[in-house]
Amino acid sequence: MTTISPSNVEVKYKQLFIDGEFVDAISKKTFQTIDPRTGHVIADVAEADKEDVDVAVKAARKAFDHGPWPRMTGYARSRVLHKLADLMEERLEELAAIETLDNGKPLSMSKGMDLPGSVTILRSLAGWGDKISGDTCKVNGPYQAYTLYEPIGVAAAIIPWNFPIASLIIKAAPALVAGCTMVLKPAEQTPLTALFIAALAKEAGIPPGVLNILPGFGPTTGAAIASHMDVDKISFTGSTEVGRLIMEASAKSNLKPVTLELGGKSPLIICEDADVDIAVEIASLGLFFNMGQCCVASSRIFVQEGMYNEFLRKASEKARNRVVGDPFQAGVQQGPQVDETQFKKILGYIESGKTEGAKLLTGGKRIGEAGYFIEPTVFGDVKDDMKIAKEEIFGPVMSVLRFKSLDEVVKRANDTMYGLAAGIVTNDLNVANRLSRSIRAGTIWINCYHVSDPALPFGGYKMSGIGREQSLQAVLNYMQLKTVVTPVHDSPW
Ligand code: NAD
Repeated sequence: MTTISPSNVEVKYKQLFIDGEFVDAISKKTFQTIDPRTGHVIADVAEADKEDVDVAVKAARKAFDHGPWPRMTGYARSRVLHKLADLMEERLEELAAIETLDNGKPLSMSKGMDLPGSVTILRSLAGWGDKISGDTCKVNGPYQAYTLYEPIGVAAAIIPWNFPIASLIIKAAPALVAGCTMVLKPAEQTPLTALFIAALAKEAGIPPGVLNILPGFGPTTGAAIASHMDVDKISFTGSTEVGRLIMEASAKSNLKPVTLELGGKSPLIICEDADVDIAVEIASLGLFFNMGQCCVASSRIFVQEGMYNEFLRKASEKARNRVVGDPFQAGVQQGPQVDETQFKKILGYIESGKTEGAKLLTGGKRIGEAGYFIEPTVFGDVKDDMKIAKEEIFGPVMSVLRFKSLDEVVKRANDTMYGLAAGIVTNDLNVANRLSRSIRAGTIWINCYHVSDPALPFGGYKMSGIGREQSLQAVLNYMQLKTVVTPVHDSPW
């Protein structure tokens, strides 16, 4: 068996995928996708513009209005999506290698988590195909009434770069199983695996026009999708700032319903009754997982005063021992950040932490001269009003804050515009229950972190988003609920 390495990864798919075919952009424009380990170009990828978006939306509309996909049974669609899952498993090694090449995440993670996790989501959501039914409704009068779920139409998705394959599947699986057709824009930093999956979707038998993939940039391709008059639904994952633009574009065009998965500044509350080693384990996973590039990252770690010093010492030691390096090498836990913009932004936050008076306990610098590697960094004595405690850093920078009482920590944890997730570490059941009900966030992890499953609804409170993904909720995002009423004469009841 050949070992996957960057030198034997073949990047085959670099064009737009529209109406079942790989095509150049109408303008013939391309953009470069970069290897974050080196800063070198991996490939030139076709760049979609407004005109390409129009062509793709027309193809998706034709496939929705006249094609077989929405007219197949839910069970038949589910079978095709299972076939796609099979193909993703068969090509797991290649997909994982391209994901690592484009994104920088350790190959062990792409192979062991991102790909299997995405396949699980795809299979689980595909299973809803034949399980969604409306109700029969009792009405006040001689009428029979029932509700009917119908696919919403042409759905659009705009996704980020931190989990490229998983984000695609999280949006495409529920949309397609519902019977929608889709136009999807991957992030400009990581377009390659989306195009690979387009090829597999074709091989699996997903008909032309049902899944269209348009690599390109936000203000051009993304904006054209969000404001398109013939897109019936949009789902976006990314920054809160752009989420706002998506909603505005919807409001100014055809009021397409919007699902938003946005940023976070998730609190992890560590109570002094807990085991310090377990707390450090959970905090490190919560923050450093995926190079800190997680919307749910535990980026405000509140530690109760009785454990504070010991926690800081152990958490810093654990951060110092993290293995950072080439993500293709076995044993590496942390690869580079995704691109130069993120890299500079994170180093800027580290500087601001230092100037605002937080205590730098470990890390704080870039590693090497090439690529976008950053030392795992821990700040202690972080205060609530510091930038590193308020803004999403999206990097390997842990901010630790001290607290005394539960009432105080609830107030401080909720004092943010975000509400995506939160963690609680305690052995006291009542404290766990009390805190989990008091924190305003879409997911609460008690004595664990980052546990995700297709059965669990995922989404944010406040400015972390609108709606829920995964679970049945995700499929319903892509459906309309129709009410049908008819008179009934001479009914006995
Ligand atoms: P972003 O929100 O700018 O990009 C996400 C997606 O939106 C990309 O596909 C991008 O091309 C697209 N986009 C950008 N501008 C757009 C526009 N005007 N109209 C339509 N689409 C547009 O995120 P980013 O610049 O890649 O990262 C910036 C910050 O966003 C990060 O530092 C992080 O804080 C946050 N982020 C959050 C998530 C998440 O999962 N919640 C993911 C990535 C980034």
